[in-house]
Amino acid sequence: MDEHHLSQRLQLVASFVNAGSRIADIGADHAYLAASLIVNNVAEYAVAGEVARGPFENAVAEVKRQGLTGRVIPRLADGLAAINDSDRVDTVIIAGMGGSLIRKILDQGQARLATIQRLILQPNIGAANLRRWLADHRFQINHEQLVEEDGHIYEVIVADPVAMPVVYNERELIFGPLLLEQAGPVFRDKWLGELQRDERTIQQLQKAKQSPVEREAKFKHRIDLIKGVLG
Ligand code: SAM
Repeated sequence: MDEHHLSQRLQLVASFVNAGSRIADIGADHAYLAASLIVNNVAEYAVAGEVARGPFENAVAEVKRQGLTGRVIPRLADGLAAINDSDRVDTVIIAGMGGSLIRKILDQGQARLATIQRLILQPNIGAANLRRWLADHRFQINHEQLVEEDGHIYEVIVADPVAMPVVYNERELIFGPLLLEQAGPVFRDKWLGELQRDERTIQQLQKAKQSPVEREAKFKHRIDLIKGVLG
């Protein structure tokens, strides 16, 4: 993979960036996504934030190699601390991490979200908690899409700020308000897989000498929800 050949997952993330955006990709690793958005004239400016020195140095080398100095700015920083006011960033991308880490990054960086027009998030797991955070902080989910790559199904969630409070019910938080409406074949594959995993977990729990009743009830409830959605 490089800026000319993004993975399908990152191509989907990139497809939600509006033309002329000023983006910050947090956890940018090699900065391939940020570089691709600039090289393809989608974004006009990009910050590539990284908390780890190794990936940050990879990003610096990549930006130099591509002659993108000044248009892609690698920054060694934790979360949204990579964004300065003078960057005039309007779009934040956080991809390829767990939902709870993405949520923590957003929560700790709330002060820097005031002027953000779009969040493009790709949690590897834990999307429900992330959706709850978005609703609690007046971000409305306007696009959601799944992509299958190398045997994994990834969720991309795009949320934009709104003035009115946002409320999602339990089903919408778990399955995604827009993914529920689409309920396409990849959605069915994802949730059939989750259903099988939850059923195996329940079997394991029931084998325990003292079955953890609360956990079992939680999984049973999830299984009922999944069966209800899959029909
Ligand atoms: N975003 C790329 C993608 O989707 O392919 C890279 C994903 S990689 C699995 C996650 C990256 O996030 C790592 O390079 C890690 O160092 C970085 N990261 C983790 N926590 C971070 C934080 N709090 N702030 C900035 N970067 C972070």
